[in-house]
Amino acid sequence: MDPRAPIPVDAAPGGNAQSTIKVEHKDYTLTDYNIPTGLGKFTAKYFPAWGVMAVRVKCKFTFKDGLKYGGTIDDGSPGGQAVMAPAPWLPDDAAKWKETFLAQTSTFWTLNHLFVCTKKGRESLRAMVSVKFEEATAQDSSLEVMNLQVFNGDTRNDVAARSCVRHNMGELGRADLDNMVARHEAGHMLGLGDEYFEAGKGPKVDHSSLVEKEFGYQVLRGDKGDEPSIMNKSVTGTKVLQEHGVIFLDALRTMTKEDKLTWAFGSFASPVDVTPEE
Ligand SMILES: [Zn+2]
Repeated sequence: MDPRAPIPVDAAPGGNAQSTIKVEHKDYTLTDYNIPTGLGKFTAKYFPAWGVMAVRVKCKFTFKDGLKYGGTIDDGSPGGQAVMAPAPWLPDDAAKWKETFLAQTSTFWTLNHLFVCTKKGRESLRAMVSVKFEEATAQDSSLEVMNLQVFNGDTRNDVAARSCVRHNMGELGRADLDNMVARHEAGHMLGLGDEYFEAGKGPKVDHSSLVEKEFGYQVLRGDKGDEPSIMNKSVTGTKVLQEHGVIFLDALRTMTKEDKLTWAFGSFASPVDVTPEE
């Protein structure tokens, strides 16, 4: 061996590197994932060597002009008649909104969930969930993209203003960044359902079946009471619950099932087992 040659630190199989650290090189990818709740859309990758599961929500934004209150005119009625004026998006405002939305939602949903591998001999594997909301590019398949309409103004042109997400489509309002609504709707984009009571909706929360499988209890709408869970209080909720990780766990199991990896919830509070695998 040429003594001036660089020392190989990551030799190919059959190489002569004196490596004693085993590094897991195989990464896993999940595209066109059918979220079991029927809500939302994301892709994911799992990097065993880093212990990170990277969830990506690719967002395609369409900014819609709306209407704003422009005072009242006296038409003889009590208080007068409200006048609505056009409220167009200004290009700088739309760009700023998008940037804030992506940062706010990504930060909020990241580092809340950790999974540990329970397969014999692979117990040292970890998956810490990092979530990134990012703008979709032209290369992204339309099957992997959340289509978001963002309305300006006090009310929308046609329907009563109410932010919502269904499957791979959503509607948001400009003011959603001023409280927790954008972060709540982001939870829907990740597949989670509403936890608050709503007349005419079934008793079970959309992600209840997954929670029941994992934790042994159902999640019924209204049962959270005043708990400030992000999916319970869309305007004021501040908490991501451990049970909200069931969607990520399902995605992780789906993308690693070819190697029969099995997973369970881990806790950030308990010491991490660093015993190296054989
Ligand atoms: Zn909701």
